[in-house]
Amino acid sequence: MNKYKKDFPVFENKPCVYLDSAATAQRPSAVIEAEKYFYENMNANPLRGLYDLSMAATDAYAEARSCVREFINASDDAEIIFTRNTTESLNLVAYSYGLNFIHEGDEIVTTVMEHHSNMLPWQMVAERTGAKLIYLEPEKDGTFSDEELDRKITDKCKLISIAQVSNVLGCVNPIKKLADRVHKNGGVIVVDGAQSVPHMRVDVQELGADFLAFSGHKLMAPFGIGVLYGKRDLLEKMPPFLTGGEMIEYVRLDGATWAELPHKFEAGTVNPAGAYGLKASIEYLQSVGFDYIRETEDRLTSMIFEEFKKFPYIHVCGSDDPLKHTGIVAFTIDGVHPHDIASILDADKVDIRAGHHCAQPLMDFLGVGNTARASLYLYNDEDDVESFLNSIKKVRKIMGFDK
Ligand code: PLP
Repeated sequence: MNKYKKDFPVFENKPCVYLDSAATAQRPSAVIEAEKYFYENMNANPLRGLYDLSMAATDAYAEARSCVREFINASDDAEIIFTRNTTESLNLVAYSYGLNFIHEGDEIVTTVMEHHSNMLPWQMVAERTGAKLIYLEPEKDGTFSDEELDRKITDKCKLISIAQVSNVLGCVNPIKKLADRVHKNGGVIVVDGAQSVPHMRVDVQELGADFLAFSGHKLMAPFGIGVLYGKRDLLEKMPPFLTGGEMIEYVRLDGATWAELPHKFEAGTVNPAGAYGLKASIEYLQSVGFDYIRETEDRLTSMIFEEFKKFPYIHVCGSDDPLKHTGIVAFTIDGVHPHDIASILDADKVDIRAGHHCAQPLMDFLGVGNTARASLYLYNDEDDVESFLNSIKKVRKIMGFDK
């Protein structure tokens, strides 16, 4: 059994084979306890009160910000904005940067493999500014050819927004290369790190990322806390996204001035318990280490691929190389709707996802309506994969094929 599994109370309370970590990760006791500790020992509205409890909450919130800054190697705590999730982080960039710094005639480049959260905000910016939205199309294995990049990233491209890891194909996209291209035009790159940050070391400076968005819940933190990293000079010139309490310096009847970063982008009461839980999840993740995570995901993905190869009616989306999947295996079975696959597996207490994975344009591009998806994380092991595969082998029989 995986030595980390015991750290996750859900597996003892509700035994299951959990293979839906790309949707949300399970939480270790360390995170659950941290959030509880906050409410039992530091619960007050941070940044507001001049009494002990409130100052403890303020300190906890600030420590969490520093922890995130170190984790992604940002150069300044002020570059870390707490949000609710990746979706809110990306919308913040679209509304605050996109609507103000992208103009008619500019080009925004994204890809057909994006999660809707990283597609709809750019459709909105293009529609409102008159900029042109251009979609990169990948090869079968999820890579982008140089010809595709040369054809579609012109000198009019002022913003590229792309997932570092696709939530369906699991491929890792070439952020550094794209950053270099858009920077030559004086543009920016927005990185959707929802599926990368929990699985690999992400260094915003090394990548050349101008913005990076991710969700706490996919890296074992509580729900409702997310992060937007932005380069300080960009955040400084951007107007606030939401207005209200806590994000102001001074309010008059005829206007207001804004608080310093990062508070300018954190309107209203913040989520210090979530941030404190996020810090605990990052510390837990670091105690496990990305090498272990990578090795576990690669080993288990390879096991799945080996077995899937024996069944010509199973088709995996993306690369044929299991090591290029970041633990994500989206697949179809001929003649069986993915919802039926998921229901049959559910009867064996194997939890996978089925549907369009909030990536309908990618489903269209791949020519599939929906897919099933198994996604792995640090607590999975060989037993999980064996149960999954045993269940998968029953699917066609139950659906009336292969008598
Ligand atoms: N981007 C990617 C690649 C995702 O996989 C997801 C969630 O699955 C999101 C964005 C949106 O994340 P959230 O729902 O936490 O905002």
